[in-house]
Amino acid sequence: MKEFVIVAAALLMFLACQPKEAELTTKKEVESIFPSGEKGSDEFFTGNAYALSLVPSDSTLTTLVGNVYFEAGARSHWHTHPAGQILIITDGIGYHQLEGQPRQELKKGDVATCPPNIRHWHGASPYTGMQQLYIIPNNEKGIVEWMEPVTDEQYFR
Ligand code: MN
Repeated sequence: MKEFVIVAAALLMFLACQPKEAELTTKKEVESIFPSGEKGSDEFFTGNAYALSLVPSDSTLTTLVGNVYFEAGARSHWHTHPAGQILIITDGIGYHQLEGQPRQELKKGDVATCPPNIRHWHGASPYTGMQQLYIIPNNEKGIVEWMEPVTDEQYFR
């Protein structure tokens, strides 16, 4: 009987220490260099993503630079950039996928590129958010063409 009580108490302590579902899906703290910016539209993002413009496009530099914070589980819809895009990850964990290629995992310090007019998406991992700087060059060719959402099947595989 005494053994049973000890085993039961140990089991209860073990269970109490397990992360609950809500904690697993709650965003973990990710450090930011910049203010979060404006919440991205549901037309272009699944979940909560916040964008801040750092360098607006002008006729001399024709390059957009900005920051996006993706909360855990948030991601862009599929889209293309007519002149390509560079992503620089400053914190957290996320994903980037060029259509037809395996999904890449990205973490702080990683750099990813997308060639012109290739469909891709980027976003946070399910349990940890991601901070990314983006650079979009040659804006005279266009900036972004938005397409359909990334399905859960595509995101979680
Ligand atoms: Mn992109």
